[in-house]
Amino acid sequence: MSDTPRLDWPSRRDPPPDWRRGAAAVAALSFDVDAETPILAVDERYATHLSTMSHQAYGPRVGIPRILELLARLEVRSTFFFPGATVERWPDALSAVLEAGHEVALHSHRHVPLVQLSPDEQRADLERGLAALAAHGVTPAGYRAPLWQQTRYTLDLLAEYGIRWDSSLMDDDRPYVIDPGAGRPALAELPVHWSLDDWEQYAFVPEPDIGQNIELPRKVLELWTGELEAMRATGSLCLICCHPFLTGRPSRLRNVERFVEFARGLGDVELLTCGEVAARVLDDPAPS
Ligand SMILES: [Zn+2]
Repeated sequence: MSDTPRLDWPSRRDPPPDWRRGAAAVAALSFDVDAETPILAVDERYATHLSTMSHQAYGPRVGIPRILELLARLEVRSTFFFPGATVERWPDALSAVLEAGHEVALHSHRHVPLVQLSPDEQRADLERGLAALAAHGVTPAGYRAPLWQQTRYTLDLLAEYGIRWDSSLMDDDRPYVIDPGAGRPALAELPVHWSLDDWEQYAFVPEPDIGQNIELPRKVLELWTGELEAMRATGSLCLICCHPFLTGRPSRLRNVERFVEFARGLGDVELLTCGEVAARVLDDPAPS
């Protein structure tokens, strides 16, 4: 008979009580600029599948310019998570996001789920991702694990490398503070959920199996607005996660516009970037 596995939780604590600054709930839009990385992380032989690569290239090629145009028109600042490999293949996408004034955070280097990597491999992937952003003058304050699959060690690494916040865990719908211990600085955690991610709704390619769904945008809008509306009673963070290769398509992008209009129409919801939420959670100065 095996022993019951021990869960290695970091210690966590609540954010300052006024992190919402009087709003009933906070909403944040985030965009994971995965491009080809999730496919090539499965097997690099897919680099020769031109149709599959074109499906992913739609993100930086078409999705990003449209998303930036929409956010400018709505006057919303957002957070864009870049894998280092995307930065190397699509530097113009990063430049466009930076020029538009949005926040950039790191989304690993190769988009390999961290649970599949050894500690040394995790460290090497983080260093490569940071170097890819540093080549463009970006020092990210935030991180999101590929497929939201990280380990306890990931949090130690993030703190060691000066990352201030993470957005990969699901044990709450309100942000909180993680104390990694061993003298490492605290991290803010901005929890996510599969139901607020466009991947589970729209991801479909014949192979590899990254999802088998093409759902109606109006169903997705109902899911997201329903959650935000209810979160006003629980004082939560409604963190929407979109992918330019999926949500860049016309009817799906209109959903983002309708979500922002819905949030503003409620009158008691604040729209922030992830970094702005994290700064409040950690009592740091607001990011510029
Ligand atoms: Zn991703």
